[in-house]
Amino acid sequence: MSQFTIPKTMKAAVVDSTESPLEIREVPVPSPESLAPGECLVKLDCTGVCHTDLHAAKGDWPIPAKTPLIGGHEGVGIVVAIGAHTQDSPVQLGDRVGIKWLADSCLDCELCRKGLEQSCSKAKCSGFSVDGTFSQYVLSWVRHVTPIPENMDSAEAASILCAGITAYRAIKYSRSNVGDWICLPGAGGGLGHLAVQYASAMGLRVLAIDTGAQKKALALRLGAEAWIDFKESKDLVGDIKRATGGAGPHTAVITAATSAAYAQAVDYLRPGGKLMVVGLPARASLNADIFFTVVKSISILGSYVGNRQDAREALDLAARGKVKCFFELKPLSALKETYEGLEKGTVVGRVVLDMKN
Ligand SMILES: [Zn+2]
Ligand SMILES: [Zn+2]
Repeated sequence: MSQFTIPKTMKAAVVDSTESPLEIREVPVPSPESLAPGECLVKLDCTGVCHTDLHAAKGDWPIPAKTPLIGGHEGVGIVVAIGAHTQDSPVQLGDRVGIKWLADSCLDCELCRKGLEQSCSKAKCSGFSVDGTFSQYVLSWVRHVTPIPENMDSAEAASILCAGITAYRAIKYSRSNVGDWICLPGAGGGLGHLAVQYASAMGLRVLAIDTGAQKKALALRLGAEAWIDFKESKDLVGDIKRATGGAGPHTAVITAATSAAYAQAVDYLRPGGKLMVVGLPARASLNADIFFTVVKSISILGSYVGNRQDAREALDLAARGKVKCFFELKPLSALKETYEGLEKGTVVGRVVLDMKN
């Protein structure tokens, strides 16, 4: 049972179908009595806004999201109720926790046992297959919520929960070595600016690619060693090779929302290079040149968000000051204009929505 006063209704941003506009309205709060064992209710402080939320709302992917849908998967808040008869809960009432994309998984299949729980066939995804964090309260699962380090501000932690984990895991699994050049297109964006910092913290040399003076300043301030403005460059592949000593980068972590950026990496990576595919462009395929993939011995890898351990590690680096999210705090009512900004590519860093009032 709960010592917290939980209202019957809450403010939430709801999409009724992929054709409907986003609507902010009052919806019922899941009642503490209705929680199954293992479930918990979290009162949100804030939530980050991710490009994925826009894809989900628009139905951009081969797998459709539930409707009506409350999006959002970068939430931070307080556990205010835990389902009756929950055994050995790793979190307690009053704990501050994070809600990430992977809301729950079985933890017992081969994929879960191997730490690939994000690909579990029973996975539940926040703001996609279950309601997410664009609401004042969210139902989640005690085994999958992530404890937030004490010294971290909720708004600071929010964007680490998707953008941070995703960037961190992609670099961690890219088989890069200390001193390697890593190319990060989209370096001034939400995911990109965190990737610049994780890569620097992991001893890699960062070539940041994006456009505009504001994104350039941010990327260089956060530790990028070289910068290319893709709109100013007349020969991007040549410029990337020159910026990395002539041979090209060892690794490219591509988070772009367009497919061209993926194929291009095969052209500029040095022999033995690794192409890490992270972004999820709508209805896109990767048209890598097979001849050059073979003769340059290029490895093409994929990375999808992160598991519970990746989440802890990504948050830990941020809590120790190695990674800082550049964000703007806005009210829930700013969600629509944030989506428009994401579509146009004008959002610098991350937008975090204040859910407290
Ligand atoms: Zn996300
Ligand atoms: Zn599983």
